[in-house]
Amino acid sequence: MKASAESNGSAVSVWSVKYGERVVHKSDVFHDYAQYGVPDGDLEMDYNFWVIRSQGKIILLDTGYDIPKRDWLGEISVTPTPDGLDILGIDPADVSMVITSHYHYDHIGYLALFTNAQIVSAQAEYDYWISKLRADDLEGEFSTEDDLQPVLEAEAQGRLRLVTEKTEVFPGITVYPIGGHCPGELLTKVETAGGGLILTVDAAHFYEQIEHEWPFFAFTDLDEMKRGLSFINELSRTTGATIVPGHDARVRGRFPAAAGAAGQIATVLA
Ligand SMILES: [Zn+2]
Repeated sequence: MKASAESNGSAVSVWSVKYGERVVHKSDVFHDYAQYGVPDGDLEMDYNFWVIRSQGKIILLDTGYDIPKRDWLGEISVTPTPDGLDILGIDPADVSMVITSHYHYDHIGYLALFTNAQIVSAQAEYDYWISKLRADDLEGEFSTEDDLQPVLEAEAQGRLRLVTEKTEVFPGITVYPIGGHCPGELLTKVETAGGGLILTVDAAHFYEQIEHEWPFFAFTDLDEMKRGLSFINELSRTTGATIVPGHDARVRGRFPAAAGAAGQIATVLA
C-alpha cells in the first residue's frame, strides 16, 4: 500500500509501537528525587519504537531490542520488534531510513534487520560508542558489541549518515543532537497535518521530566541534560509542537490506539 506523495504534510503518519514494559519507582528514575519533597510512586514504563510514514516511505525511529534474549533491567517482553512489524504489515526490507535516537541497548537492538535503510545517528554518539568498542571498553555499559556491529556494517555499506547539528533528514523530519543522557541523543521533530510532534525518546523519558524539567538518573552530563529539557520546552513553545516522552505509558492514554489488530501495540500520534 502506497501513501500518496503530498508535500503539505497531510500524508504523514506517526505511530508509537510498544514492544515491552516494566514498572519503576519515581525515586529510581528521577535524579536525586528526594530534593523535590514529593511522595514516591510507581510509573508504568513502556518500551517503544516509532514508525513514520511519509511520501510513500517508511521511516523508523529506533528498533527496540530482544528482551527474551537478555532482560537488562527486568523488562517484560510484550511484542518483539519483528512480530510488531509483522502485525503492522511492514517488511524490514522496505524501511528506507532508521533514525537512532541513541545507541543504548533498548533502542538499536534489531538494527541489523533493516538492510536497505539509511541509518541516521549523531556523530557524537557514534564517536563515543565506537571508540569504546574499539578499546574493548563496553563492560558495564548500556550497549554491547552485538548492538553496535550493525552500525559498522551500515557504515561499511555506505548507509550510515552522521549528523552534527540540527538537520532535516527527510522532508518534514528534523533531528537535533542533544546530549545529557548520552553524548549524542537525537531529538526528532516531525511535521504533520495536525502540527509538529517532538519525539524526545530518552531526552525525556516521562511527562514529569518535561513538566518540571527533572533530569533522569542515567546521564553522561547532568548540566547538558538539564539544558536539553529546557530546549525541548523552548522548541515546543516556539513551534507549537506537541512533546511526546519516550517511555511514558500515559502517552497511550493521550492518543488513540491504531485501528484493527495494530491497535494492540500501536498508538496513533499523528
Ligand atoms: Zn530507553
